[in-house]
Amino acid sequence: MKIFCVANQKGGVGKTTTTVNLAAGLAKIGQRVLMVDLDPQGNATMGSGVDKRKLELSVYDVLLESASIKEAAVNSEKVGYHVLGANRDLAGAEVELVALEHRDQRLRTALKEVSEDYDFVLIDCPPSLSMLTLNGLCSAHGVIVPMQCEYFALEGLTDLVNTIKQVHANLNKDLQIIGLLRVMFDPRITLQQQVSDQLKAHFSDKVFNAVIPRNVRLAEAPSYGLPGVVFDPSAKGSLAFVEFAAEMVERIKKM
Ligand code: ADP
Ligand code: MG
Repeated sequence: MKIFCVANQKGGVGKTTTTVNLAAGLAKIGQRVLMVDLDPQGNATMGSGVDKRKLELSVYDVLLESASIKEAAVNSEKVGYHVLGANRDLAGAEVELVALEHRDQRLRTALKEVSEDYDFVLIDCPPSLSMLTLNGLCSAHGVIVPMQCEYFALEGLTDLVNTIKQVHANLNKDLQIIGLLRVMFDPRITLQQQVSDQLKAHFSDKVFNAVIPRNVRLAEAPSYGLPGVVFDPSAKGSLAFVEFAAEMVERIKKM
């Protein structure tokens, strides 16, 4: 079982879209997947066909050790993967965890119990470098960083890279940046091409080959409670995510 965080402390860069579509893409090619929603907004939960308002148990209960992942994860049949969901309860966890021991290791410990049950665990992180994100980073083998090819994209990366380095040095020596994923890409925009070329030049094999285009079907899918890959499998964006899933399957063979 390999565990990946989808992280970037900027909001609206495509973390949740990446998490749910990669999960659906991996499921489509036969992988057993658990999606963990670490964002109190619960968008990845809703976007995986699970109603966050009706969750009996959530990732909040797992972090506070009042439930196991086996108890709290639900099988979302229409998307083909399991979901450890989140809702607004999780916003309180940040404060409640402060007083507890090993507060940054809670998710890691809980995931050990399901290590035989899944091939991939994907963790959707909130747009901050908070205790919740730290729980994700402490659990993971790698970080997937979705980014838009914009002028300031690289600047925002510095804080995340430094955090990852610190977690690697002090808390989780498995952790590495697996790769940068170019998302919402529009090849007609010259600047995006240029930034994409710069990314390749700077980070070479840390940049995934798959590129996710800007595609309205990916943006429409969440309102149907589905990842684009399930909602419209033939859309360009969906095909790109299935390609990305295949690339991830190849990547983990080298880990
Ligand atoms: P984050 O989780 O980082 O805040 P989201 O995944 O929620 O970001 O994406 C932000 C917005 O951009 C959402 O409205 C989403 O539907 C849209 N979006 C994400 N990726 C794409 C894409 N490839 N093409 C078009 N819209 C996208
Ligand atoms: Mg999100």
